[in-house]
Amino acid sequence: MSREFRTALGRELEELAEAGLLRSLPQPAGAGGEGTVEGKTPWLNFASSDYLGLSHHPEVIEAGCRAFRERGAGAGASRLLCPDADLQRDLEARLASWKRREAALVFPSGYAAAAGTIPVLVGAEDLVVLDRLSHASLIDGARASKATLRVFPHNDLHGLEEILRRYRPRSRRALVVTESVFSMDGDITPLQELVALKERYEAWCLVDEAHAEGVFGRTGAGIIEALGLEGRIEVELGTLSKALGSGGGFVAGDRELIDLLINRARPFVYSTALPPPSAGAAKAALALLTSGEGTRRRERLREIIALFGGGQSERSPIFPVICGEERRATAVAARLRKRGIFAPAIRFPTVPKGAARLRISLCSFHTPEEIRLLQAELEREE
Ligand code: PMP
Repeated sequence: MSREFRTALGRELEELAEAGLLRSLPQPAGAGGEGTVEGKTPWLNFASSDYLGLSHHPEVIEAGCRAFRERGAGAGASRLLCPDADLQRDLEARLASWKRREAALVFPSGYAAAAGTIPVLVGAEDLVVLDRLSHASLIDGARASKATLRVFPHNDLHGLEEILRRYRPRSRRALVVTESVFSMDGDITPLQELVALKERYEAWCLVDEAHAEGVFGRTGAGIIEALGLEGRIEVELGTLSKALGSGGGFVAGDRELIDLLINRARPFVYSTALPPPSAGAAKAALALLTSGEGTRRRERLREIIALFGGGQSERSPIFPVICGEERRATAVAARLRKRGIFAPAIRFPTVPKGAARLRISLCSFHTPEEIRLLQAELEREE
């Protein structure tokens, strides 16, 4: 490529590096001696959202392989042009019944589900209000919608009410957007109170349960199930890529919502359908997650959370270890990596500037010994 092209991009990379914000892809375990302890031990991975370890369950792998053999590696076209997507349709029916909603629709990713759904629901005459710590996919969807966008301080319902009081009367529709478990802080939204508030202002609500699925609720359906809020939230967003151990995202809700998304959600209409192996694996993972095996794994995860969280078992598996300055977070993560622990530094723009952190996510396959090792290493860093 031209020198001018490379120089222009190179300058941007240098600026990122100077600000301590340059990202690069992690090396595979063992490469260059990193990620190994005395050249032997593999990574201890504290970065995965595979909370119940289902991505490696033999039944999930077998279902994925079967779909590969019988349906091929790719779906071949968008769902609207896919006559034999019965695996995807079956998965949707099961997701809908798990979430106790009329219907569900699967997208190629959770990001696509979030970013594609919001612009279908609100437009230029409407209001969309987001929690300040909402995931990038929700922010991008809200921006793309062209609705008036307002942000309320994290989990601050007074802040949300102020916005609704001020803007609701001049908007055709209002949509409140939040996560039930926040991806970078791991805290839980006061959803009962938020739902009561949005009902008072006749607003709609979209809740992203990406990090609650598999972890909360009797059948692992999330915080909405745990709080018995089924039917009071217009749009439920989920992902197949975390506790469901596969890849893809979905929306669950009323039949009319799903039918409109089929017509209007651009990442659904214009993207190739979820690959059959991902759909097959997710279906098997869902069956496990809602069975006794899922309950056992959830209990095990609770024990691991309690061990790391000083006895608190009812919190989420995501623990931020705040480092503050960006360079400090990357230095701590690099030192841990040298000792075989993968706990990545999370920096701006994923989290606010100066709030860089290690993000520890715990899974049911971590052992008490591994948790104690992590704790000892973190103490050394203090
Ligand atoms: N929502 C939240 C809260 C997330 O954390 C993520 C994944 N980082 C997504 C949506 C996107 O899901 P996916 O990885 O399936 O695209």
